[in-house]
Amino acid sequence: MDRRDSLKLMGMGAVALADPQIGLTAVAAQRPVRNWIWIRPDDKQTDAQRRDLFRMYKRYGIYGVFIEWYHEATFKAAANAGLSTHLWMWTTNRRDQWIRDNHPEWYAISRSGKSCFDQPPYVEYYRWVCPSRKEVGDYLEQFVRDHLKKPYVQGIHLDYVRFCDVILPVELWPTYNLVQTEEMPDYDFCYCEVCRSKYKTLYGKDPKDIAYPSDQYSWRKFRYDAVTQLVNRLAKVVHAQKKPITAAVFPTPEIAQRIVRQDWTRWNLDAFCPMVYHSFYLEPERWIGEAVEQGVFGLRDAKPLYAGLYLPAFANDNAFEMGVRYARRNGASGISLFGDVTESQLKILAALK
Ligand SMILES: [Zn+2]
Repeated sequence: MDRRDSLKLMGMGAVALADPQIGLTAVAAQRPVRNWIWIRPDDKQTDAQRRDLFRMYKRYGIYGVFIEWYHEATFKAAANAGLSTHLWMWTTNRRDQWIRDNHPEWYAISRSGKSCFDQPPYVEYYRWVCPSRKEVGDYLEQFVRDHLKKPYVQGIHLDYVRFCDVILPVELWPTYNLVQTEEMPDYDFCYCEVCRSKYKTLYGKDPKDIAYPSDQYSWRKFRYDAVTQLVNRLAKVVHAQKKPITAAVFPTPEIAQRIVRQDWTRWNLDAFCPMVYHSFYLEPERWIGEAVEQGVFGLRDAKPLYAGLYLPAFANDNAFEMGVRYARRNGASGISLFGDVTESQLKILAALK
């Protein structure tokens, strides 16, 4: 089947959104299936426990793990078990003491003038830095270079690679006592000096003077592009070392643009792990398939998409299996699991490979 035919097939998938079984594209169907797990190193684990855990993952056909920070024993055990080991890094949400001490001006500023340095939105750990600043890119590039030199780091996985949520997933609104049917000034970023002057140079206007910022499309795009340029800069560094770079992104290209200013289908990455966390959006398992189909279509089949599933959202193993099936039938080249993975879930994944 040639490229044109596969594009035609994709078009059919988009039209047939109502039936989440139709979206699977020819190219996606031919890709090897790769399943992943996001993991957090645990200091209390012994080497033997790590070895046994990663061997079990491998036995059930898990391809790789995203490890939340550099913990050599964890990287080593996973690599020795034959898993692909990627450093899972927080990208534009940075609490680094060094940045706090030396560059408080790197922190993003809301439309209401509050800096993530001392007035973080929603939660204490939301310390967003501004992607428009060259120095932020320099710092992150160095962080990536330093980590690529460490033993057993086989790839880089970007997370929190975006602006602060201008709109939270709807499930979280009651938690913060908010109704976010519109973009609110405290959560709309970034209005720092650098963003304002760069935008003004391009469009002749200070973003602070925009009457309806949520509907100023050049101002939206300016921010998508700020993140895209940062990501592509990091991708260049990783690719120069012949290693892969992937990212955890918001569930569909449209949702990602609208609520966190991610335009991820333009990113020069090797694979994408959209967090299709259906419960966050008050959707049933079926929606996982629809979201995956939109992502696969957005990527034009050029790169694999591994559907990120949020394990606490599944009531039981049957629901989990449905989620996996919806993702796979709609073109996901694999699954990435977030949460406490059980052996029965690994069995289901292995059986559907
Ligand atoms: Zn800024």
